[in-house]
Amino acid sequence: PQIQPRPVIRQLDEAAINRIAAGEVLERPASAVKELVENAVDAGATRIEIVIADGGKTLIRVTDDGCGIAADDLPLALARHATSKIDGTDLLNITSFGFRGEALPSLGAVGRLAITSRVAGADAHSIAVSGGRMAEVRPAALSVGTVVELRDMFYATPARLKFLRTDRAEAQAVGDVVKRLAMAEPFVSFILRDVSGGDSRTTFRADAQTGDLFDALHGRLRSVLGRDFAENALPIDAQREGFHLTGYAALPTYSRGAAIAQFLFVNGRPVRDKMLLGALRAAYMDVLSRDRHPVAALFVDCDPMLVDVNVHPAKSEVRFRDPGAVRGLIVSGLRHALAEAGHRASSTVAD
Ligand code: ADP
Ligand code: MG
Repeated sequence: PQIQPRPVIRQLDEAAINRIAAGEVLERPASAVKELVENAVDAGATRIEIVIADGGKTLIRVTDDGCGIAADDLPLALARHATSKIDGTDLLNITSFGFRGEALPSLGAVGRLAITSRVAGADAHSIAVSGGRMAEVRPAALSVGTVVELRDMFYATPARLKFLRTDRAEAQAVGDVVKRLAMAEPFVSFILRDVSGGDSRTTFRADAQTGDLFDALHGRLRSVLGRDFAENALPIDAQREGFHLTGYAALPTYSRGAAIAQFLFVNGRPVRDKMLLGALRAAYMDVLSRDRHPVAALFVDCDPMLVDVNVHPAKSEVRFRDPGAVRGLIVSGLRHALAEAGHRASSTVAD
């Protein structure tokens, strides 16, 4: 490299900025699927179909029946920091999955992206962007909703591509992401298909649930975690200091040898949070041996003001204003349910 007499500060162009941002949001195909499915949910979709090939490396296509994107808005949807979900005045009160306006431009920077969309009362249009270069908006055919297709993720960044794992491992990660979001949205139907090598296999399917939230969640957990979980799960419903805990936690007899079936959600968002996992563990401390792990799907809901979701670009980390209260709620809520189940079991034996 040439040595400069003094450093020159320059403004990076949009394409470079998008590529840098993409590095934070999009680690692997599963992160792209997460962003696209979240967009579909935010759009009010009732049916979401995800198609992948080769672990998502060559193809990711997400189809939804949500509100769609107007033709005039298509280029804007691909612009950085452009979002319909917040107006920037209230970052402490976020109720949608998205708000950063970064996913679509990032996807356009790392692969060949095509969006086709139709809003009610208008015709469908599509736009394509590849390597950060945008083509013009064209008429297309589609019913109301949106199809976003990403081909050849990371094709322009071979270093990144090399870090991906096998197709099988990437497909598994995609499945995990879809299942977590499916647990968070029991009233939406999800179908995940793998079209690698030309044939089409449905690898996950969860039909839309009906009824009240508890029934719907129970039905959804049955399709995601299996009948055994559903039959061994205790309903959880507890409140404390502005936090509401709901969900299902399995009896100690239905535990696992690894901490692989613990699903936590904060205000409907799947999260991986050490504090919450620690609280879950602590709740079962007296009823599980050290090498066993509880199975649970727990939802913490609170005023968005009480939790910051803007900690990390992927938003899988959260920060509570009062972590102690949340921890206390989880430990006491679960212990209470476990104790009640224990009493019921012993009284049945006595009968
Ligand atoms: P964000 O979700 O943070 O707003 P994105 O880059 O993911 O940012 O999307 C940009 C905008 O494009 C969204 O705010 C939304 O208006 C629109 N959009 C994206 N995906 C969809 C979809 N599936 N249906 C309807 N609108 C969408
Ligand atoms: Mg988004």
